[in-house]
Amino acid sequence: MANTTTAPAPAPALGFPEKLMPIGGTWVPAASGDTIVVSNPATEKAIAETPAGTVQDGLAALDAACQAQDSWAATPPRVRADLLDAAYRAILERRNEFAALITAEMGKTLTEAQAEVDYGAGFFRWFAEAANRLHLEGQYGIEPGGQYRLAVSKRPVGPALLITPWNFPLAMGARKIAPALAAGCTTVLKPAELTPLTSLLLAKVLEEVGVPAGVVNVITTDNSREVIGAIMADPRVRKISFTGSTQVGKALLTQAAENVMNTSMELGGNAPLIVFDDADLDQAVEGAMVAKLRNGGQSCVAANRIYLQSGIAAEFLQRFTERMTATRVGDGAVHGVELGALVDEKQAAKVASLVEDAVSKGATCLTGGTRPGGIGYYYPPTVLTDIPENADIREEEIFGPVAAVYEFKTEEDVVRAANGTPYGLASYVFTKDLARALRVADAIDAGMTGINRGVVSNPAAPFGGTKASGLGREGGTEGLEAYLETKYTGIEL
Ligand code: NAD
Repeated sequence: MANTTTAPAPAPALGFPEKLMPIGGTWVPAASGDTIVVSNPATEKAIAETPAGTVQDGLAALDAACQAQDSWAATPPRVRADLLDAAYRAILERRNEFAALITAEMGKTLTEAQAEVDYGAGFFRWFAEAANRLHLEGQYGIEPGGQYRLAVSKRPVGPALLITPWNFPLAMGARKIAPALAAGCTTVLKPAELTPLTSLLLAKVLEEVGVPAGVVNVITTDNSREVIGAIMADPRVRKISFTGSTQVGKALLTQAAENVMNTSMELGGNAPLIVFDDADLDQAVEGAMVAKLRNGGQSCVAANRIYLQSGIAAEFLQRFTERMTATRVGDGAVHGVELGALVDEKQAAKVASLVEDAVSKGATCLTGGTRPGGIGYYYPPTVLTDIPENADIREEEIFGPVAAVYEFKTEEDVVRAANGTPYGLASYVFTKDLARALRVADAIDAGMTGINRGVVSNPAAPFGGTKASGLGREGGTEGLEAYLETKYTGIEL
């Protein structure tokens, strides 16, 4: 493979007891005794085993969360804040350990894994600060008719079920656990079966900093449908926060309706990245590189469609293609590698089939496009242009290092194209004209827009989408609100 660096990945330290999961403050095996093997996508070698949790284990985790709920909700917000702050510090102290585990189970480069640790830890700091301000959430006053008093306060919504995908093994869980704990909710976390190790290390760190037993329970399973189905059928669960595919999100929304459960859904994306003729091309190429290749393109906010205005299309494509071609691909644990392996065979095969479909229907492949042989689920940085109307890649979330590039003439045309999808998560606009940037950002129906930048994620900002990309926001002030219920009391004196 061109630009490939290979060397054996170092075996990561687990930092928690293998084949066990934390339920009610005790690390336990699956009731069945069965385990799931977790492998390194760069080497295809087993790293560790986790319990293959059953319905019985899932319900035990829920029992533990329910038992801990009242005392956790009654724990003063400042005490909860101090624990979250201690977690923030502890995660950063163990940055390298977390990063090595993320790279080993997921495939991204160590540099990106370290950035994920910083981002994930940041949610504990942000929501520690928010927990300290929880008392500001209430209101007290006299009703407009002057007859009696109104008091409005916030309380935790209750035990929360948290389900995360494999692409950000630390950050997706941190983005849910930190606000849940800040609000006073106990939790059951179900990480993706491909990448459960980082979640288990996080649970261990939370335990070590003093988060009480039962507040954070983790269930690892390869039988999500049944285990989650059983937990959701129990009316004691008051909240589900899910990050993953739109397809699974829709199924969970249907299940949540049965018990009228509070829901947050972070679902799929199909982000447009638009470069206007007047853009700073250095900035735009850099932004497109990061929006496309971050996490190997396996991100819900990855640039899925790159739109270039005709005046700069040729020059942009030349510079961008050079950068993509020069990207060093290899085991993410090896220093200097810029693009690691994709998460598994299924993902690599799906990316390859999207490219093959487009090329077979007439697309031009400017670089990449061929899956290398050998060990590891690699796919090279690829640039496609002249993509025909009937190519699948036009509609689907690519989730790989493949740039699908289109040309446009006018602002109106590109806004229409950008909005021509059921999704509305992230979007990116590159232009030096501020008025145009803000006009286009307003016109795009998406939860987030980056102006002249290819990354927008920040614990202090509300992350989430419109349309089929989901319901609710994580991070920002909204991220805490998602775990709070409003209580109104009318008071006659
Ligand atoms: P997925 O929907 O297959 O799985 C997500 C989680 O749901 C995993 O933990 C999985 O085990 C679990 N799950 C699967 N089927 C289930 C079922 N029937 N019942 C209960 N749980 C079930 O998604 P994925 O492949 O892990 O992740 C990729 C998807 O996630 C992409 O579509 C991506 O856009 C999306 N994503 C969205 C965001 C966001 O914030 N909007 C962030 C990251 C990823």
